[in-house]
Amino acid sequence: KLVIQGENRFGFTEEEADKIKATEEKYTFETEVSRLMKLIINSLYKTREIFLRELISNASDAIDKIRFMSLTDPNALSAAPVLNITIWADKENKVLTISDSGIGMTKKQLKENLGTIAKSGTSEFLSAMEDKKADMNLIGQFGVGFYSVFLVADKVIVTTKNNEDKQYIWESQAVNDYTIAEDPRGNTLGRGTQIKLYLKDDALEFLEDGVLRSLILKYSEFINFPIWLWTKQT
Ligand code: ADP
Ligand code: MG
Repeated sequence: KLVIQGENRFGFTEEEADKIKATEEKYTFETEVSRLMKLIINSLYKTREIFLRELISNASDAIDKIRFMSLTDPNALSAAPVLNITIWADKENKVLTISDSGIGMTKKQLKENLGTIAKSGTSEFLSAMEDKKADMNLIGQFGVGFYSVFLVADKVIVTTKNNEDKQYIWESQAVNDYTIAEDPRGNTLGRGTQIKLYLKDDALEFLEDGVLRSLILKYSEFINFPIWLWTKQT
């Protein structure tokens, strides 16, 4: 096992990783989700940068939701008062992390939102995609934009904390199943969602400062919250 400064590649200590393995629950993706992910994995390269647009828009939606809640609930923001989006490129580990201090997800919401497809019309999109009559670029319009992460990553870990529940870790290597475990570190986020993308070897360009900067500029036009870009010198 590759260990970096007391942590494994996935940012957990050995002890934490063992705890996750021991307590995680395994779930199977809805058939349509698996079908969609297979398509995404085999999709054309030219449109794959859209994953960042989808993640930024989800982060922004999540911040909008908690801000709206705070209008009637003065304590809604207290666990993480600063509303922003952070993007961190870790070249050493080939990991791109997108974090937000938005509303986060409860365990129930994790299962509902990142495992099933709620929106009707997705079947039509899938059929059109399979017949190569649709463009992956339209994925966001079908309410399944999150899954575009698998255009660039072969493993994704979502850590999330909603005010109404504990902090959970959702993990998937695409196609058939995913796991959910309570985070052994406790509440490290305060509130919000952190998405770690373990990039495919042919997608390492998305760790480059210049590439990230221009994509963030391109996709942040209608985003009302600050986006911080951190990069690590190698
Ligand atoms: P859409 O954004 O159109 O609903 P997505 O596939 O992009 O479809 O996301 C599915 C759902 O997952 C969202 O509706 C939201 O409930 C949840 N979700 C995704 N990303 C986040 C996030 N960063 N914070 C909170 N919830 C999220
Ligand atoms: Mg979305």
